[in-house]
Amino acid sequence: MSADLHLHTCFSDGTYTPEELAALAKQTGLRAVALTDHDTVEGCARMAAACQALGVEFIPAAELTAEVCGHEIHFLGYFLDPENETLLHELAKFQEVRQGRIHEMTARLNQAGVPLKAESVFALANCRSPGRPHVARALVQEGFCDTLDQAFERFLRKGKPAWVPKFKISAMEAIRLIHQARGLAVMAHPGLNRTDEVIPGLVQAGMDGLECFHTKHSTNMTEHYLQIAEQHNLLVTGGSDCHGLNKGKPLIGTVKVPYRLVERMKEKVLQRAVEGGFLIAQPSPGNPTTS
Ligand code: AMP
Ligand code: FE
Ligand code: FE
Ligand code: ZN
Repeated sequence: MSADLHLHTCFSDGTYTPEELAALAKQTGLRAVALTDHDTVEGCARMAAACQALGVEFIPAAELTAEVCGHEIHFLGYFLDPENETLLHELAKFQEVRQGRIHEMTARLNQAGVPLKAESVFALANCRSPGRPHVARALVQEGFCDTLDQAFERFLRKGKPAWVPKFKISAMEAIRLIHQARGLAVMAHPGLNRTDEVIPGLVQAGMDGLECFHTKHSTNMTEHYLQIAEQHNLLVTGGSDCHGLNKGKPLIGTVKVPYRLVERMKEKVLQRAVEGGFLIAQPSPGNPTTS
């Protein structure tokens, strides 16, 4: 009875379609999964349908890039409404910036003597939310690099010739955007950011949870963030951050959390809906509505 709450599809930088990912979730024996594509919720409708057909519980979500005190952090927005207009409007802007960034990255590669065309990256990515992994795959596919790691090491990592900073909203804006779409705002893989000092401020701003369990977290890191979550009364989440078949075996299900953590999340969503007056009162029995 467990859940993997951090997964990507081909709607961002994962390689699986929503249907393939749902099938793997079923095979892996997961009770629930969340789709957390970067800056898009486009895969949610298909993933929801595929999961429903297989009897796997689906949680709509997205992963947003934000900034606090000069640090890049990622926010996972769980249970957000994939049809929320403000959310869709903002995501469309982030996607446009991502597409512009691909042009900038290929221009820099060209300057560095690597004649990769932006069009090749777009053709390979075939999505609205392209990122560095797509550039890396194009570099490998066209023979400019041997492996994805090499592409990142030589060109794409921060400080390397083709690295282009990514547009980021502030952490406060990310939390607000997720909340107005009725979602829970969770800081992704805090162990990778090493910016614990920002956590109290984010809690003040309404952050709901911490992703304590993550593929790149050591056991000590997980313990450390579990303590911080308890201190601040935050929800605990976790997931594999599976991007598909980029690195041999897919990660889905290799990091999972007990289903009771999903129940805690649902309780908070419900509590907020009640407090915010989003729940429409059901007519009580014995008090028939006029017709
Ligand atoms: P972007 O959002 O375009 O800046 O790209 C960030 C994504 O690149 C992350 O979600 C990771 O999946 C991926 N990534 C970062 N570093 C590496 C690496 N060394 N090898 C493979 N993928 C990476
Ligand atoms: Fe990614
Ligand atoms: Fe991330
Ligand atoms: Zn991710």
